[in-house]
Amino acid sequence: MARKYQLGKLRNIGIIAHIDAGKTTTTERILYYTGVSHKIGEVHEGTATMDWMEQEKERGITITSASTTCFWREHMINIIDTPGHVDFTVEVERALRVLDGAVGVFCAVGGVEPQSETVWRQADKYHVPRIAFVNKMDRIGADFYNVVNEIDEKLNGNPLVIQLPIGAESNFVGVIDLIRMKAIVWDSDVLGATFSMKDIPNELADKALEYRNALIEKLADFNDEIMEKYLEGENIKEEEIIKAIRKATIETKITPVLCGTAFKNKGVQPLLDAVVDFLPSPLDIPPVKGIDPKTGEEIQRKADEKEPLSLLAFKIMSDPYVGRLTYFRVYSGTLKAGSYAYNSTKGKTERIGRLLRMHANKREDVDVVYAGDIAAAIGLKYTATGDTLCDEKEPIILESMEFPEPVISVAVEPKTKADRDKLSNALQKLAEEDPTFRIRYDEETNQTIISGMGELHLEIIVDRLKREFKVGVNVGKPQVAYKESIKAKVKQEGKFVRQTGGHGQYGHVWIEIEPLERGKGFEFVDKIVGGVIPKEFIPAVE
Ligand code: GDP
Repeated sequence: MARKYQLGKLRNIGIIAHIDAGKTTTTERILYYTGVSHKIGEVHEGTATMDWMEQEKERGITITSASTTCFWREHMINIIDTPGHVDFTVEVERALRVLDGAVGVFCAVGGVEPQSETVWRQADKYHVPRIAFVNKMDRIGADFYNVVNEIDEKLNGNPLVIQLPIGAESNFVGVIDLIRMKAIVWDSDVLGATFSMKDIPNELADKALEYRNALIEKLADFNDEIMEKYLEGENIKEEEIIKAIRKATIETKITPVLCGTAFKNKGVQPLLDAVVDFLPSPLDIPPVKGIDPKTGEEIQRKADEKEPLSLLAFKIMSDPYVGRLTYFRVYSGTLKAGSYAYNSTKGKTERIGRLLRMHANKREDVDVVYAGDIAAAIGLKYTATGDTLCDEKEPIILESMEFPEPVISVAVEPKTKADRDKLSNALQKLAEEDPTFRIRYDEETNQTIISGMGELHLEIIVDRLKREFKVGVNVGKPQVAYKESIKAKVKQEGKFVRQTGGHGQYGHVWIEIEPLERGKGFEFVDKIVGGVIPKEFIPAVE
C-alpha cells in the first residue's frame, strides 16, 4: 500500500512558547483554518457518532493528544504537543527529539521571556529549524520590532523579517508580505477566515522597501545564487526567495519572523504557508542514529519506507476509552496494525493492536504507518517512553532520551482503606507514562513519597489521581530535593547564573535570584521555580 502523502509533503512540527504567549490559541486557530475543528472554542454538536471532543465535554475530562494531524496546501502536518511551563522542560526535550521543525510563538508585548529562552536553547541543542510568530499584535504596547531585536540579541536566532505589521494595537489590520511585496488585510467580521491581497499602503512603502532589501541582503549571505543576482541588480523571483529561505532555515542559519494575532484571527494562514514553505520534511533531516544491540556498532537509518523498521516511543498516555496509548515516531520502514514488532530496548516482542492518527475532533484508524509518520498504537504491553521498536532480524536501538532526576517530593496518603489499592494502581500507571515521575515507599514513616520536576508537575499528578482515577488522597508539604547543594553551588559559581527577568538559569535549574548589587552577581532567593538539576551537580553527601 502506498502512502497517501509523499514524504516531502509531511511536516512534523512543534509549537514552542513561553506560557501565555498564545500557543493554545494559535494551535486552535491552526486547527480551525485547516478545517478540522468546526467552531472556534466550541465543539461540533448534534452528530450521531459522538466525536472525541464531545466525549471530553460530556465526561468533563480533558484528553490532550501528544500529536494532532491536520492538512494545509496538500501537506500533512503533525503538531506535536510541547508544554510551555518550565516544570515540563523534559516534556519539551522529548517532543523536540521527534519533531523536525518548530514555530516559536512570542508575545508582542512581553517579547522573549526567560522560559522562551529555555525552550529556544533546547531547540538549539537538537538543531531544530524554526520560524517565529510574533503574536498578540492587537495588544496595547505591542512592539514587533522590539521582539525581532530580542530574538536576535537574547536568542541569537538571526531573525529574518519576512512580514511587517500594518497598524498596531487595536488598529492592527494585517501584514506586509515582504516576499511578494503585497499587503494582506483580514476581514475582521468573519473570524478572519477571509483576507484580501492589496497594494502596500503609501505610508509604509519606504519601510517595506528597506526591509525587503535587508531580507535579500541577509539571504545573499547564505546563498551564492541570490548574492550574484543581488550584485548584478537582477530581479529575484518569488520562488527563488522562498527556496533560499527554506534552505537557510533548515540549516538553522536564520529564523523567518512573521506576526499577527491568533486571538483576533489575523496572520494564521500565512503562518501555515510558512510551515509548509520553510520547515523541513523528514527527508530534509539527517538519518537517525542508533546502535546494533548485538555488536554495539553505530547504525544509521534513512527516512525511507524500504529500510527496516525503526521507531521511537516518545509518549505513553492512559486514555479513558482505549486504555494505554503509545505515541511514536517512525524513522524508517513501515508498521502495520495487527503486526508484531521487536522492542529492542526491552528484548521483547510486542503485538501492535490498532494504529491511530489523532485529529482535532476525531481519531482515525489507520492500517499502516510509514517512515516519517507520527501516530499512536493501542495494545502495547511492555513499551515505555524512550524505547525502540524495530524488525527483530535487523535490530537497532535508537539514541534514547535522557531523563533527569526529580527535584521535588511530596508524601501522599490514601484517605480510606478502599483508596489504598486504588492509589497504588493509579501511581503505577502514572509512572509508566512519565519517566520523570517517581514513587518511593518510606519504611520509617509508612508514607508513599512521589517526586517530580516541579510543584506544578506534582499538582497535576495529584489532580489526576483525584479526578481521573477517583482516589481520595491527603497530600503533605512539598520538599525540595537538594536545595542546599544548589544554593552553595550558585554562590560559589555565580558566573553560571544569569539574570533574566528576575529568574536565573543554572544548568536547567530555574531558581529565583536577586542582584546583590547592580553589576555584582546575584543572591539566591529561597525558591526553586522548576526545572531539572543536572546529575553532576547533585553531590553524594552534603
Ligand atoms: P499559552 O499559555 O501559550 O497556551 O497561551 P493561550 O493561548 O492560552 O493564551 C493566553 C492568553 O492570551 C489567553 O487569555 C488568550 O485569550 C490570550 N491571547 C492569545 N492570543 C492572543 C492575541 O493574539 N491577542 C490577545 N489580545 N490575546 C491573546
